[in-house]
Amino acid sequence: MPELPEVETIRKQLRTHLPFKVRKVRTSKVYESIVHTGRPQLKDVSIEEITRKGKMLIFHLDDKRYLLSHLGMTGTWRVTDSPLKDKHNHLILEGEGKTLNYVDYRRFGHMYLFNKEQAQKKLNELGVDIASKEFTLSYLKEAIKRFPNRVLKVTLLDQKLFAGTGNYIANEICALSKIHPLRKCSDIKASEFKKIFEATHKVITGAIKSNGVTFQGGYQDTTGDKGQGVMNLVVFYQKTCQMCKKTNVEKIFVGQRGTYFCPRCQK
Ligand SMILES: [Zn+2]
Repeated sequence: MPELPEVETIRKQLRTHLPFKVRKVRTSKVYESIVHTGRPQLKDVSIEEITRKGKMLIFHLDDKRYLLSHLGMTGTWRVTDSPLKDKHNHLILEGEGKTLNYVDYRRFGHMYLFNKEQAQKKLNELGVDIASKEFTLSYLKEAIKRFPNRVLKVTLLDQKLFAGTGNYIANEICALSKIHPLRKCSDIKASEFKKIFEATHKVITGAIKSNGVTFQGGYQDTTGDKGQGVMNLVVFYQKTCQMCKKTNVEKIFVGQRGTYFCPRCQK
């Protein structure tokens, strides 16, 4: 699933094609399961800027509307010279000599074409973006204390608190901060908040630098490439812990999500 670094990679790549004037819009037969605001009226509209909050891409249009795009499990925006022939291509925005294709074979992605107020309301559902300046140590402390009875990993996955995280990020944050993913939030020690904060920073900056992380059949960027970030992982999808290099990583399920940890490094 694309998490913050993967969405950021796609955003940066898409931005190089801006401004993008849409000349023709085409949709698949099942686009409505992704685009929730009706047939997108985007003809002759220009995409001026693309920003991001958490895992939500925000296309700023020159008519003061916003196209919000969440990639779900398998969504991506592919940039091609002519429309991509793929039955999972659900929204095709043809420009002059370039086409933006929203490809999503499992169709868990979401899109909304909104005015400013509606867009703001939707974005307010998200917590602070973990790559933004607003994500501070004191914010992180408050966010973790918010649900004292939850286990740490579940809180780290909460988009209302940590916008942009996902399963691999949450696993890796627990690992790099040497905390067992099942530790209760109320048991996190004062000295550990800083470790979690620094680990968050390390995981996302490392993954952004390597253009995202791919797992089987998953994420592709706008050119169809898979990121190199899998090389940086210390426990997620690893057999041996890459921190101590000698202990087998254990896998459990927390809220149906595969959860990996090193029993030696994480207490
Ligand atoms: Zn270890």
